[in-house]
Amino acid sequence: MKILLFGKGGQVGWELQRSLAPLGQVIALDHDSADGLCGDFTNRAGLAGTVRRVAPDVIVNAAAYTAVDKAESEPDLARRINALAAGVLADEAQELGAWLVHYSTDYVFDGSGDKPWRETDRTGPLSVYGKTKLEGEQAVARCKKHLIFRTSWVYAARGENFIKTMLRLAKERDQLKIIDDQVGAPTGAELLADVTAQALHTVTLRSRPKLSGVYHLAAGGETSWHAYARFVIEQARRTGQPIRVMPEAIETIRTSAYPTPAQRPLNSRLDTGKLQAAFDLSLPEWQPGVERVLAEIFGQ
Ligand code: NDP
Repeated sequence: MKILLFGKGGQVGWELQRSLAPLGQVIALDHDSADGLCGDFTNRAGLAGTVRRVAPDVIVNAAAYTAVDKAESEPDLARRINALAAGVLADEAQELGAWLVHYSTDYVFDGSGDKPWRETDRTGPLSVYGKTKLEGEQAVARCKKHLIFRTSWVYAARGENFIKTMLRLAKERDQLKIIDDQVGAPTGAELLADVTAQALHTVTLRSRPKLSGVYHLAAGGETSWHAYARFVIEQARRTGQPIRVMPEAIETIRTSAYPTPAQRPLNSRLDTGKLQAAFDLSLPEWQPGVERVLAEIFGQ
């Protein structure tokens, strides 16, 4: 099987290079073109030509414009990358009869209520980023054989994320104020990549086109950013990292008291029942994955 992976250097893309390898030949691209291939999502003609030249059985798209606040002032660029380029991949994949795997976000929802969102729930993105990701989902669905994984709060040892920010701030400051009224599940790039490989194995090798669709994919359990930060700091202190802030000194703050350019959903809970049933998988609680990545960051 030939797999064309875009966004190989991102949190998820990096882990996909590992998890997809046993499935076949992986051609992995980032912004830069290599061997006449183009992985730049602002170059739609280049992307289309690349898919035609490689003629993959599967396209996995881990590239995205992920700067949520910056997207408010760069809506056109965010849309080009998250929606229009994804649409090119969809049309080319459809032409080839290939599978297209794509990632989306809890930010397609408005964050109301406190129930975990199901795939069939009404979307209502609050931000430019969320809107462009939703448009990207709709574009990807033009390819008959697609898997769209909506996830939340992604972290990895590689790349920038909440864990890295907390560790940096906790070394510099004695006190932190972290939001406690946004709830979701931190999800490891490793888990996303492993589940992607399992799902692809099922749909391709066992030929299951009926499994095409949108799936919620996040770690089990739930937490707030505040409780998540405390967990990270406690683990860091326990393993002897030079952390200034005491876990008790991490104060709570409401979203309304911390304005950001992009509005974020309060309820980011995702119901993952559909994915677990369709692919016969069980998703682990969020804590062990965070502990593993912390150990990796600390070089243990
Ligand atoms: P990252 O930001 O870590 O990776 C995104 C990748 O896309 C980077 O390698 C980046 O390259 C690349 N990229 C950006 N612009 C372009 C471009 N014009 N052409 C080609 N490549 C480009 O994101 P994640 O791995 O965290 O996210 C993976 C998916 O998961 C995305 O679809 C995202 O929307 C979704 N998601 C992420 C969440 C999160 O918390 N991070 C939460 C929910 C969903 P470079 O770094 O060189 O710019």
